[in-house]
Amino acid sequence: MEEPTRFLAPAVVTADGAGTVHRPGWVEVLGDRITGVGPGRGAPGPVGGTVVELEGLLMPGLVNCHAHSPMTLFRGVGEGLPLDRWLREAIWPREAHLTPEDVYWGMLLAADEMLRCGVTTSCETYFDDGRIVDAAVDAGLRCLVTPGIVAIEGAEAPFTWPALLDRASQLHADAQGRAGLIEIGFGPHAAYTLPLDALEAVGERARDVGALLHIHLAETAGEGASLEAEHGVTVPGLLARLGVLDGRVLAAHSVWLTDDDLDLYARMDVAVAHCPQSNAKLGSGVARLAEMLEAGIRVGLGTDGPASNNDLDLWEEMRLAPLLARATAGDPTRVSVDQALTLATGGGAAALGLETGILEPGRLADLVHLTMADSRFVPLVEPGDLLAHLVWSASSQLVRDVWVGGRQVVAAGSSLTIDAPGARAEVQRRAERLAAALG
Ligand SMILES: [Zn+2]
Repeated sequence: MEEPTRFLAPAVVTADGAGTVHRPGWVEVLGDRITGVGPGRGAPGPVGGTVVELEGLLMPGLVNCHAHSPMTLFRGVGEGLPLDRWLREAIWPREAHLTPEDVYWGMLLAADEMLRCGVTTSCETYFDDGRIVDAAVDAGLRCLVTPGIVAIEGAEAPFTWPALLDRASQLHADAQGRAGLIEIGFGPHAAYTLPLDALEAVGERARDVGALLHIHLAETAGEGASLEAEHGVTVPGLLARLGVLDGRVLAAHSVWLTDDDLDLYARMDVAVAHCPQSNAKLGSGVARLAEMLEAGIRVGLGTDGPASNNDLDLWEEMRLAPLLARATAGDPTRVSVDQALTLATGGGAAALGLETGILEPGRLADLVHLTMADSRFVPLVEPGDLLAHLVWSASSQLVRDVWVGGRQVVAAGSSLTIDAPGARAEVQRRAERLAAALG
């Protein structure tokens, strides 16, 4: 019979949204689930199974709600270009030469970076997504994979949108639930890169299997202009009219929302992947985070692809989200420390519909151990100091150990599942080949 593991730590940050921190505390894990959490060292008497004594702080793994992680292959490409030119001039010409093996290695290197940063879940949308699944399973990363569906001018099978939609359905049939880590959704790229009948068809297909539909929405100010002029409604309003928002929907970015759009999101329960760093770097704008939270919209954080961020370290989003919300409002009470932590953990889990992101019984055992033997956790005087330090002064550099579904994948800051030097060399070699192919 499987035996439980009990983790004992000087601080257990539950990220339950109420600021609950046990000092000291314990977390018990059986299989891939958390079976108990509490203050002290747990119930008296002998404990079956294994006891793991940790030096620092135990918290839930972070959830990256929007990424194109294999784009580690393109990190730094097209520096300084606005989104439309960046896609057309720098990214799409390179992607035309991508192989499934490139995608695998790009994703594996990304998984190493995410896991070592304490990111235990990512939501991905890209091409050759079956190889993203393979890399995530090999790495031990939890992954919601939403195969990219886009209408490319002049595309022939298997790269037409109906063929891409069929491939996404096939991956759902093949890989849903694999290794207890993988969920499959659908990733229609955006309203401006797909015809309306494609958007309708993808929405229907996703609803049929109860899968997440993950779409770029209202990322830049001008992207929806021609659709809006043609249909007399905002792009979110148009998607609602087409029935695309009727199922489980995750709208990445959502920077340029009107008041009516916000109401629509709240009413239709559309979740948001807020990507403050990508939006800032590409000059796209600042999403209305505080208003989204006030409206009860489910919001998580996303790094976006490592070609537009340029890393996969979600700690930066956790800090930048409240910074930008406060700076733009001129109000330091906007987006509390507890809300920032929730955005990066349980809020992201809620946005994706996954049972992770909070240390509580029944949730998936996705855990991160951070050292507290560091100046960034000193001093601890008032009750609120620990969470404030966690958000404002700690960083991914303090991550020591990581477990996904109860399985340890990072120990003492190094990946246990990935040959990191080998993955770095593969990505270097493949990026050189892709750059050379441009001529
Ligand atoms: Zn994106």
